[in-house]
Amino acid sequence: MPSYRELNAEELEALKRELEQEFEAVKAKDLNLDMSRGKPSIAQLNLSMEMMDVLHRESDMICDAGIDCRNYGVLDGIQEAKQLLADMMEVPKDNIIIFGNSSLNVMYDMISHAMTHGVMGSTPWAKLDRVKFLCPVPGYDRHFTITEHFGIEMVPVPMTSTGPDMDIVEKLIAEDDTIKGIWCVPKYSNPQGITYSDETVHRFACLKPAAKDFRIYWDNAYGIHHLYDDKQDYLIEIFMECKKEGNPDLVYKFASTSKISFPGSGIAAFAASDANLVEIRKQMRVQTIGHDKVNQLRHARFFGDISGMVQHMRKHAEILRPKFDTVLNTLEKELGGLEIGSWIAPRGGYFISFDAMDGCAKAIVAKAKEAGLVMTDAGATYPYGKDPRDSNIRIAPSYPTLEELRVATEIFVLSVKLVSIDKLLGNL
Ligand code: PMP
Repeated sequence: MPSYRELNAEELEALKRELEQEFEAVKAKDLNLDMSRGKPSIAQLNLSMEMMDVLHRESDMICDAGIDCRNYGVLDGIQEAKQLLADMMEVPKDNIIIFGNSSLNVMYDMISHAMTHGVMGSTPWAKLDRVKFLCPVPGYDRHFTITEHFGIEMVPVPMTSTGPDMDIVEKLIAEDDTIKGIWCVPKYSNPQGITYSDETVHRFACLKPAAKDFRIYWDNAYGIHHLYDDKQDYLIEIFMECKKEGNPDLVYKFASTSKISFPGSGIAAFAASDANLVEIRKQMRVQTIGHDKVNQLRHARFFGDISGMVQHMRKHAEILRPKFDTVLNTLEKELGGLEIGSWIAPRGGYFISFDAMDGCAKAIVAKAKEAGLVMTDAGATYPYGKDPRDSNIRIAPSYPTLEELRVATEIFVLSVKLVSIDKLLGNL
């Protein structure tokens, strides 16, 4: 098939009639498919079911330090969970705190604390006239929702194939002390699957922010979530890099086992410098007597150590890989060369990012919905839900079965084709 851009109006109309028939045929099937959220499938959840069998008796409930995990105590996590998560996050065990079941919750709390109490003695953000955050785009919608919720002004920074555009990041944060943070998903980013290059991480570690209370919010949600054994991205560890550059307090690291064990019932962790942790523990002491140690123990016993966790991730990859391949192969087969969209083939993570012709994303998502396919709302990957080009669509292939995914991707490409033809015909 030649590029749609080479077709004249008559040819486009003829093609449209043909595709509309195909579309009506799938619509008649009355399907109910969902490619909107990055949820693990049931088969993936089943991989961790044995975790429910590791704690039976009273004696099982005692952690390495001899503490009964069923009772109150141990504010920042049991040692074996700290070791496991420290290895996963590639930081020293003493620089980690184990939290509850969600890293997003920890991110929210950090921002909330900065709003009301400031960061290490600085003015609470709520008392300032303006507070801004840099938001690499496209990015993770829930990050943007947190900053929007607190009235923090979001400044989009374009992503490149090596991470956020660092020329822009360096310049903005050096000259504007109202910029207090930047959201980063540094490995297999949500939604593009991009991993920040060595140079990008190094430039982050060397940042010279005008604001003393500026922090990098480094959400490494997909740190060990590879799809392939032989093609894996590598990310430099930023905490040590910041320390080496004399900026130990610059970064807050977040992660969780949500997409390793159970989303919503995993364990979350936070890593930062000693000075940052002193402040955070002070706040924690007010918030809680301690998080769920039974779940921490379950995770530590089930995975054993980091190599157990890495092995476990291979099982996830075996389930996820054919799904990503199905979507990517269909995109290539059906849309390759048509010049109506582009996408990135990721080596890990949970998403495929699709860029339609400008002005088409909302219409494509609406069209797919007509045939029973729910996609993430167009615009969600941008602050305030506003994609200025109305182009980016996030595809989440993890939850549907392989068979559902085949049909869902067919609907998606049909929707892309139909909307693009309308755009080229000037009907949009
Ligand atoms: N960060 C990113 C980048 C994510 O994609 C997700 C899940 N979609 C989360 C955080 C949520 O993590 P948690 O379940 O630990 O709150």
